[in-house]
Parts: sequence; structure tokens; C-alpha cells
Amino acid sequence: MNVHSTQKRLPMFSPATGKQIGEIEETPLSEVTTFYEKGRSAFQMWSALSISNRLHYLRTLKEYMALHMEEIAKTISDNTGKVLTEALVADIMPTLDGIEHICKHAEKGLKRKTVKTPLLLMGKKSFIEYMPRGVVLVISPWNYPLQLAMVPVVSALAAGNTVILKPSEITPLVGKCMEELFAAAGLPDGVVQVAHGGKEVGAAFTEGTPDYIFFTGSVRTGKIIQEVAAKKLIPTTLELGGKDPMIVFEDANLKRAAKGAVWAAFTNSGQVCMSAERLYVQKTVYHEFLQLVKKEMETLKQGIDENADVGSMTFPAQIQIVREQLVEALHRGAKLEAGLPPDQWKEGMFLPITVLSNVQHNMKVIQEETFGPVLPIIPFEKEDEVISLANDTVYGLNASVWTKDVKKARHVASKLVSGAVVINDAIVTVANHGLPFGGAKNSGIGRYHGAAGLRNFCHEKSIIEDNGRKNTEIQWYPYYGKYPLFLKLFKSYFKPRKDMIYFAKMYLQLLKKSTEKERK
Ligand code: ADP
Repeated sequence: MNVHSTQKRLPMFSPATGKQIGEIEETPLSEVTTFYEKGRSAFQMWSALSISNRLHYLRTLKEYMALHMEEIAKTISDNTGKVLTEALVADIMPTLDGIEHICKHAEKGLKRKTVKTPLLLMGKKSFIEYMPRGVVLVISPWNYPLQLAMVPVVSALAAGNTVILKPSEITPLVGKCMEELFAAAGLPDGVVQVAHGGKEVGAAFTEGTPDYIFFTGSVRTGKIIQEVAAKKLIPTTLELGGKDPMIVFEDANLKRAAKGAVWAAFTNSGQVCMSAERLYVQKTVYHEFLQLVKKEMETLKQGIDENADVGSMTFPAQIQIVREQLVEALHRGAKLEAGLPPDQWKEGMFLPITVLSNVQHNMKVIQEETFGPVLPIIPFEKEDEVISLANDTVYGLNASVWTKDVKKARHVASKLVSGAVVINDAIVTVANHGLPFGGAKNSGIGRYHGAAGLRNFCHEKSIIEDNGRKNTEIQWYPYYGKYPLFLKLFKSYFKPRKDMIYFAKMYLQLLKKSTEKERK
């Protein structure tokens, strides 16, 4: 392939102002092999470091980021159109918190663990060891371009892997910023490499045979990646979309729930896989609640300055998806409670924050991810009914249940087919790095965050250790004369109350049989 034909430059735009804010060089496809070679050679050194040595680099990264918080927030805001407060609170803070959590827990979480050895393997010891996988490919999206790239990268690094990061081409400025952050942390050459570019670059790196793929993005791309990975048996974690239900019972703190609904639906302009995308409200309080939501929305200010609440959309193509869903819903009888019909939208990337009523369960706006500032409100009567409505989409990422009745809240939470559920709040499970994060159904495969999130990036290796002093084992050859003895041994062993003296007798007889033959 001609290198020059693939060496494109990616323009960087500010979605909020529409202005070009820079350009970035795309990684040529011809460099894929070099990236993997470099990653594999760095892996020899990086995986051999002690965890505490590896964490030293991650602490430096965290400290550097904390010092440069404002510049990073501005870069994120410029490139995504999200308000500065959200860049800080919802992208930078969870990243720093994630690194801190990993620095605190990685040594314990990845330490060799002793497990009990069953009596039938008498005299041996059993361990689990966590062995890094190799070169991990992290492919990340544009909606939380820092957090959704950095947390998997840092988890993979702590576990001893080297990483190739392919950030989203929609937010290349943040991709460049992360590359600079890793360099500033002094990570040795080849430990983290950033490949810039679009889906062709992502596809080429997926084909380039990583040892693990950690992907965050759309269901459509997730399925393509899973297919490519399956052909080479490359393990994956897929963090995909959501259509998260929010369920408000009549006995909830309605004022809090209305404020929570507005925040959970419109934060990051609704471009959140865990945003409230379907709001189910018990019929008895439906009208009152709708008014509370509308009143709350009146206070919101759109813009990107320090005091703005709702920013712009990030990706122009997403606006088309939101438009299509809204057009279909309005055409089929949905009512606009707040917002404007799409033919009255202004030019540009700021969409009106929208509330819909009178929606039907089979509309796209209820079944498909909207990823925009649109909140459909649906009345329900009974608990069972709302559980089945909430579960009736292909997604299962997050959900929220609002009620003062803790027992009911926990019961409903248990019935929801969802990777996470929040009670009397929304979205925040992602902010506790001690909890596993991931989806059910089409929302994804696998988990990260927490101890499981580090071990994901490792092969679990089982080790059984014998002191090697005995010359033989009872289950080794010869089998001559052993069958009846094994029968007696297992019968005594698997009794409700084990007959230990009998068991020991049988064991010794079997051992004797093994050595008898040896002497012949
Ligand atoms: P979104 O539409 O939310 O951007 P995508 O799933 O299209 O979600 O993109 C998420 C990430 O996946 C981006 O970094 C993108 O460049 C990358 N990507 C898109 N298509 C492919 C592909 N076929 N193979 C590998 N990576 C891809």
C-alpha cells in the first residue's frame, strides 16, 4: 500500500462554534505492524516491572493531570461542545478517581491468591496468578473522550500490558492531549502508543492481532469488532449503548426526581450511554411530575461558558439520528411538551431540550438509543407493568428507580435486566470505581472498574504445587486392583458426613498399590 495515500490529516472542529481549531496527522495504515512490534517489545520490559513500579508512572500521570486540570477541561470542552463544568466533573474527575482507585487497589487485586486445595489432592498447594495478556487495543468514543479512553488504558497498564489507544476521530484534540499526558508521565517508549484516525485505522488495528480488545462505542461497531476478534479468538470487552429507563413511583420525592430526570436526560446534551432515555411515571402523579420537569427545564441555560448547563451536540451525524426519531414520534402522534419540531430547529449544533408525551412503546424514540437531549415520558399503573416495559428493549446498561420505599426499590432493581441500577439517583454507578461497570444484552460484554476490571486484562493462571517428595500419586499408573479401592474411597468422601478414618485408610491402600507395582 502507498503510505502517502493513507497519510490523511484530520481536521479538528469546535462543535459549539463550528470553527476549525486545528489539524492532526492520521496514523498511516502501513504503521500498524510497527506499532504492534513496538508494543510487544515494550511488553517484555513493562510486564517484568513490579506492580508498584508500574503504579509509580500512573501516580505521576495523575499528579500531572491534576496540575493541568483547567487546560484539559478546555481541550475537552472545545472539542466536544460540552460545558466546562461537565468536562471537569464528568470526564476529568472520574478519570483521576479511576487512576487513584487503581493505584490503591491494584497490588492487592493482582497479587497471587491462595485457594483451598481439596482433600483428594492431599499435600498440594493451589494458587491463582494474574498474567498480563500482552498488547491491548483500546478503541474509544467521543462522548466522554477522556474517561472512556484513559480508564481502560490505565487498568491495562497497571495489570502489566502495553497499550495501543485508538481514540475517536470525532474528538482528535482530546486524542492528542492524551498522547501528551502519557508522554508527560514519562511512560517508557512503546508502553502506550496512540493511533490517530477514523474507522479504517480502528479496523486496521483490530486486524493487526492485538492480545485483547477493549472497545467502547456503538452496538453496530461492537458487533463488527466482535466478528473480527472471533475469527482470531481474540478476547474482548465491549461497552456499548443503552436505552436506560428511569422509573418514578408515586411515593418518590417528586421534586428531587424531577430535578434528577432533567439532569440525567440532558447532561452532555443526552449523549450519554447511561442517560435517562425513557421516563416512566406512575399515573397518579404523572401530570404533577410532568409540570415539575417542565418547570425545572426552564431554568437551564444552553451554551459553553463556565455557567452554562447544557452544551452543544458533538457529532453532526448524531443530530440526524435524533431528528429522525423525533420526526417519527411526532408523525405517529407524540406530543411535544417542551422543545421544537425538527423543522424549526436553528442551524448549528445546539438542539432544543425536548420532552415528549403520548409516545408508543414501539416507537424508535423508546426502542433505539437517541443519544440526544430528548426525554419521552410514559405513564404506568403497576409495578409489574413498569418492570416489563423497562426490560423490553434490546439494551440493559443502567436504570434508575425512584421511591421512598427501600424494599420496593430494591425489589424492582433486582428485577431489571441491567448492568447497573441506581436508587433515587441516576447514572452515578459509573462514578464508583469499586463497582463493576458494563452492560447486559446489547449493551455489551464484560466488565471493567473494580478488581474485575483489572483482572479482565490478565489471564488467570491456576497453579498447583506439589513438594515432589512422594514417588507417585494414587491416580497415576498402574490402575491394577485400584478400581474397587477408588469406589470405596469416593463413597466415603462424598458421604454427607465424611468418614475420614475410612478415607485415610483407602487413600493409603491406593498409594501402596501405586508403589507396589513400581517395585516389580
Ligand atoms: P460512535 O458512532 O458513537 O462514534 P462508533 O462505534 O462508530 O461510535 O465509534 C467508536 C470508536 O470505534 C471510534 O474510535 C471509531 O473510530 C471506531 N471504529 C468505528 N468503526 C470501526 C471499525 N470497523 N473497526 C474498528 N474501530 C472502529
